[in-house]
Amino acid sequence: MVHLRRKLLSHGGLLYQLKQSIRWGSSLKIRDNEILSPDRSFKYADLSVRLAAPHQLQPKPDVSALTFGKHFTDHMLKIFYYEALGGWQTPEICPFENLVLHPAAKVLHYAVELFEGMKAYRGVDGQIRIFRPELNMDRMNAAAMRSGLPTFSGTELIKCLSRLVSIDEEWVPHSEASSLYIRPTLIGIDPTLGVASSDSALLYVILCPVGTYFKTAANQVGISLLADPRYTRAWPGGCGDRKMGSNYGPTIQIQREASEMGLQQVLWLYGDDNQLTEVGTMNIFMFYINDDGEKELVTPPLNGLILPGITRNSILTTSREWGQFKVTERVITMDEICNLLSENRLLELFGAGTACIVSPISFIKYVDQGLHIPTLKQPDPVYKLFYKHLTEIQYGYLPDHPWALSIG
Ligand SMILES: *Cc1c(COP(=O)(O)O)cnc(C)c1O
Repeated sequence: MVHLRRKLLSHGGLLYQLKQSIRWGSSLKIRDNEILSPDRSFKYADLSVRLAAPHQLQPKPDVSALTFGKHFTDHMLKIFYYEALGGWQTPEICPFENLVLHPAAKVLHYAVELFEGMKAYRGVDGQIRIFRPELNMDRMNAAAMRSGLPTFSGTELIKCLSRLVSIDEEWVPHSEASSLYIRPTLIGIDPTLGVASSDSALLYVILCPVGTYFKTAANQVGISLLADPRYTRAWPGGCGDRKMGSNYGPTIQIQREASEMGLQQVLWLYGDDNQLTEVGTMNIFMFYINDDGEKELVTPPLNGLILPGITRNSILTTSREWGQFKVTERVITMDEICNLLSENRLLELFGAGTACIVSPISFIKYVDQGLHIPTLKQPDPVYKLFYKHLTEIQYGYLPDHPWALSIG
């Protein structure tokens, strides 16, 4: 009986969320594009499921020893797109398997690829939840447009991937220190070398149980960053604001340089005034005392250089609702960081993203300076409030929250 009630509630939740998603979506220009008309998308109703045979099932890893993105679950979701066959084909859940691609496939030459990163959490009530998935879908469609790849109905993909998560639900760790990472991916697979849009594509979703993202207990000691003005990850008119694979490959060598110096992440700068843009693959936030002596939370604006993070959006929305301090989206420069530090007005710097929610920053190596950031010295830091609030939604401590979609 309790189980049934929960099921009904969760379906009510799903319907509510889907309605919400349509309402939010209507404000996005991209939804008006005719490519997205529902009859051109694949549909959950057409989904077929082929389960792995018992001997194909993988042993589940020990959650205390999880490395990010190393273990994958037993099933995956695949949806092909062929222009010549009328567009999207029927979605299929199948046993996890290798892909077979033509050596000329566009993804392998011109990085015609984009992805998303979301998580499924097992709540205190046993329910599995995903967090604001409609925003991942909007962002994925925006990246598809920018890549010349086909768009689709986000609502239908949420339903298909929720089914995938329910099938592999035993892989959602029974632990609050971990979760199931969901990686939707869209690639151009035309077997032709022309630099042109791909008439065929594959959208697939894979899942992996993950623990804490950083190997050290980063939330205890804070992360250290390399800020080197010789490198940049995004520029005006580029596509740094889209989760396209081509943005990430070129960061690896600089990330390695940071690691070799004993630093954990790269602080990405832009422009002659060394604007702070992102930390690794997180958005950046600063909490400080402004010129009027008030406490203020700042993050760089969505000016094309910044990935529109869902954690970023959630932190901004939450803090505006709380109304306890000023909240601003504006450019932050390294000069400002140095000045605020020298006047003891810089309180906290932290990164924000799905991987670790918030990650406090304790040190920046900037040209020949070592900047000690007092984030961990604050008696009641705001980054902890955001961490607590968002995890309470994700793990069901605040049940029926509109940002959590129950599945399964
Ligand atoms: C994914 C990502 C983020 C964080 O986005 P979330 O939706 O909060 O996970 C921030 N910056 C970059 C560069 C990213 O790739």
